[in-house]
Amino acid sequence: MEKLFCHLCDHDAEEFEVKEEEFFYNVRNEDFIIKGQRVYCVSDKHKDAEELFHKEYDSENQRKAFDLYREKYGILFPEEIKNLRKKYNLKQREFSHLLGFGEITISRYERGSLPTPAQNQILKDSEHPEKMMEYLMKNSEKIGEEKSTELKALLTSLMPSNQYEQGIINEIKEIFHHVPDAYSGYKEFDFKKFSSMVLFFSKKDSPYLTKLNKLMFYADYYFFQKYKESLSGAKYIRDYYGPVPEKFQTLYDNIEGVEIIENEHGSFTSSIIEKSYEDLLSEKEIEILNFVYEKFKGMYSSDIKNFSHEEKCWIETQNKKLISYEYAEDLNMDREYIR
Ligand SMILES: [Zn+2]
Repeated sequence: MEKLFCHLCDHDAEEFEVKEEEFFYNVRNEDFIIKGQRVYCVSDKHKDAEELFHKEYDSENQRKAFDLYREKYGILFPEEIKNLRKKYNLKQREFSHLLGFGEITISRYERGSLPTPAQNQILKDSEHPEKMMEYLMKNSEKIGEEKSTELKALLTSLMPSNQYEQGIINEIKEIFHHVPDAYSGYKEFDFKKFSSMVLFFSKKDSPYLTKLNKLMFYADYYFFQKYKESLSGAKYIRDYYGPVPEKFQTLYDNIEGVEIIENEHGSFTSSIIEKSYEDLLSEKEIEILNFVYEKFKGMYSSDIKNFSHEEKCWIETQNKKLISYEYAEDLNMDREYIR
């Protein structure tokens, strides 16, 4: 045992006793009962055993009391703070800066210091990626541009809405999985492309579903005519009102940022959030979509229905059957429509 000063002996204690006992330990003006070890001077120079300050025992006792305090008041444990920081792939200093703490605050907390209630709340909030994104936006210059960009991408991927979106995409992928053939325009179904196309047309003028179905058909088939590949990989069925994407209701229902609204004339799509399609569509794809949009701009659902009924693919394919993309070569997009 190292030298421990005894106030009653007025010099370093000569005889010690280590006792394992239950006692109160005060944390922020509140006593917690803990079981720990304490050291006493048992010299016969004084009647009562005198407790001596022992650094290691005391910090162990303090740790136990802090843990009780943490449990009672929902304060994060050092390990939890460390895991949180690791989740965001940050150094202690970076995490401190982002949360607006002092430079070494996180380091102290990870080593066992008790967070203040206010900072504990900030730490807890930062568990949510969208909240962490707010802190990042506020303090990004403190961690440098490169780290900011990296964290931003990480947070985006952790956002619940993105996870939700990814879940839907995976589900749709399973439902619409097919081997590319003439009916899919020799392309695997690409729900993101399909969604971007719907978003494109919805932003332009919220088309009714009957019209949207045809716009989608013409975009995919015209794209095929030009580039020998479908744009979205969607399959189209010959329906009474013209060609429609297979299971279009399921597809439209699951597109983020687009809502299907009903009024007395039917259902139409409307883009409800500022989500852009530009980064998911190439220039030549947007060119085709623009062309199709302009071509049918002034036409009602019934006009475009009648227009599509003159297509060879509609005439030659049986009702409710898939339409082959091979018919795309017969499309005449310069054909005029006379009402
Ligand atoms: Zn003593």
